[in-house]
Amino acid sequence: MRIGLTGGIGSGKTTVARLLQEAGAAIVDTDAIARSLTLAGGAAMPAIRQQFGADFIAPDGALDRDHMRAVAFSDPPARQRLEAILHPLITAQALAEADAAVSPLVVFDVPLLVESKRWRSRVARVLVIDCSEQTQIDRVLQRPGWTRERLDGALAAQTSRQARRAVADAVLLNDGITLNELRNEVRSLAARWGCETITAP
Ligand code: ADP
Repeated sequence: MRIGLTGGIGSGKTTVARLLQEAGAAIVDTDAIARSLTLAGGAAMPAIRQQFGADFIAPDGALDRDHMRAVAFSDPPARQRLEAILHPLITAQALAEADAAVSPLVVFDVPLLVESKRWRSRVARVLVIDCSEQTQIDRVLQRPGWTRERLDGALAAQTSRQARRAVADAVLLNDGITLNELRNEVRSLAARWGCETITAP
């Protein structure tokens, strides 16, 4: 069984991915794949250098993330060019990792699953982690380096809570529950989706 995992920033998506892994699922982390593609020597770097120039390459040969983030934010065509380089490479790597997985449940952790639409047809179910915007704000502002302004920008760039819920086959409401309660919810979802052999310690 292949499922897609998504949710807004601060919804608890990363936490749920960890709990799914604990319950026996194999996690394919598309953000981690994107990062590895843009490290020095990463598979995306020759095309990035060719299309964007040496200004976008850090001294160590990796993508200059701060520079690229600033440009991609203010210049949609540049963002599209970057995505045209990255997305096919991310998809290929993610599918290769899924093919290599031995777990009965493979979870594609895709922050922009709803926005990108490429993933829906590749997974049997979409699991959305949901919480109120206030909870998102409370959680994210505790992270180092996050300001209200940066968070408002990130929230505005993401799809709405309703749009995300609309594509969900399952919604996990991660609001006002403890991490232990969340773990129990995740265990029962994992069991329903093929990880029956995993028993709670
Ligand atoms: P996301 O990956 O969706 O941005 P995270 O999984 O990183 O979100 O969660 C954001 C923060 O909120 C983390 O510090 C996490 O430990 C905390 N958190 C998530 N869910 C809960 C919960 N049910 N109870 C307490 N803290 C939580």
